[in-house]
Amino acid sequence: MGQKDVNSNACKIIILGPPGAGKGTQAEFIAQRLGLPHIATGDILRDEVKRKTKLGQKAKEYLERGLLVPDDLVIAIVKERLAGKDGFILDGFPRTREQAQALEDLVNLDLVLNIKLSAAELIRRLSARRVCADCGRNYNLLLRPPKQEGRCDLCGGRLFQRPDDQPEVIKQRYEVYEQQSAPLVQFYKERSILREIDGEGAVEEVLQDVLKAVNNND
Ligand code: AMP
Repeated sequence: MGQKDVNSNACKIIILGPPGAGKGTQAEFIAQRLGLPHIATGDILRDEVKRKTKLGQKAKEYLERGLLVPDDLVIAIVKERLAGKDGFILDGFPRTREQAQALEDLVNLDLVLNIKLSAAELIRRLSARRVCADCGRNYNLLLRPPKQEGRCDLCGGRLFQRPDDQPEVIKQRYEVYEQQSAPLVQFYKERSILREIDGEGAVEEVLQDVLKAVNNND
């Protein structure tokens, strides 16, 4: 990842991996640790749907069916969110070759993390995921349970299961990942900024590996 000091707020990082690999959780930690804005396209889109904005109405059906929202819509969101930012951690974007190309035209990335997880494990994890209805924080009944059942540790909000974490939609999302997003690993390998992370361990173990990659000292 070059010689750049990554412990600065000018670091541009993206985090790849299949749905359920823990991208959001790890991105949240890195964002806190490095003081970077955490930009998660899935969170942004869910919020647009919840607020019934024009964009939300366009995106709703794709989210419900586990399909990708069209590139032009997502690229426009990311362009707007990245404007004026020196550093960031992008989570859930890019997911297609076209998105990766658009991002490359926009910024020079410092690091691409790819969290790897077997299909069996990610299905198990996604089925146990719960999200706070108020602040959006992610929990996992198996790996990162809330202190009080059904309530968010941070804000006390109600925890719910994302509709796209139902078995049929999980299957669809995984297929979409394999076909459209997995090839991006090769795209970034060719640019020598990719670091592979084993996502099978506990959240803290994965975090240690992520931090090593970020600090480039393993
Ligand atoms: P996530 O929270 O990252 O799992 O994203 C949830 C859903 O939002 C996905 O299944 C897609 O429907 C949509 N989405 C999020 N990010 C993107 C993206 N970069 N491109 C297209 N659709 C996206």
